[in-house]
Amino acid sequence: MAIVKMRDMLKEAEEHGYGVPAINIFNFESAKYAIRAAEEAEMPVIIQLYPGFDKHIPLKIAVDMVHDLALKASVPVTMHEDHSDYAQAVAGIGAGFESVMIDGSALPYGENVALTKSVVDLAAAQGIDVEAELGHVGTGSNLSDFTDREKFTDPEEAADFAEKTGCASLAVAVGNAHGNYVKLPVLDFDRIAALRKKLSIPLVMHGGSDIPFEQMQKAVRLGMTKFNIATEYQRCFYRNAAKFYESGKGRDVYLAGLMALEGPCKEFVKAKIAMLNPGGYKLP
Ligand SMILES: [Zn+2]
Repeated sequence: MAIVKMRDMLKEAEEHGYGVPAINIFNFESAKYAIRAAEEAEMPVIIQLYPGFDKHIPLKIAVDMVHDLALKASVPVTMHEDHSDYAQAVAGIGAGFESVMIDGSALPYGENVALTKSVVDLAAAQGIDVEAELGHVGTGSNLSDFTDREKFTDPEEAADFAEKTGCASLAVAVGNAHGNYVKLPVLDFDRIAALRKKLSIPLVMHGGSDIPFEQMQKAVRLGMTKFNIATEYQRCFYRNAAKFYESGKGRDVYLAGLMALEGPCKEFVKAKIAMLNPGGYKLP
């Protein structure tokens, strides 16, 4: 069907009350199975790449590969560059991503504003959308990162940040964190509601892996739109590959293992698409 702009995909989702999973890929199969899952679910999908992986897959190769799959897909697909510093964002703009993230969340407020604005200005010339982050989304292995409300995004500050930077979407800290959680996360729903009220741009949830189903659906209902899923997708590949190779099936044929991952990994993505669509919206 089409490669679509991030802003158009998220606007559609907001209008129709569903969230879009942003699946972190790491090879050809992880991209192909996520897009196939979206086709079977008949819903859009965001494919994203963490630029720190560029020694494993060069940015341009990942973009070209995903665009080739997207052009042949029956559903909208967009390609996003995940957590980037300035140089990575510039490289991502050059490589042809529809959207890039500039992550200045560890910087003091004024520096995050200045850095984000500089990338927004650069990306705008190419029609590329910029996701920013305010309030630091930490790691799930550090309990205080997702329980200490001092670290969460302040709605007033977020509104000021969006206005000053012109970012297209904003990643927020609302009780979520990256990687494996040491304790079941509990999202701050009052804060999500307050952020939604204060901001007109789409809200992004990082660390969407392992957040319980009901909490994810509530976050969608409160107006969050893009949900990053990396840890759980990696785990799905790892566990199913381990199971296949340990079973002795297709012995010594590495490709057989990659192909055996299609079923379970597609089911995983389809379950996320369904979870993020509590109203059961269907594309026209
Ligand atoms: Zn993230």
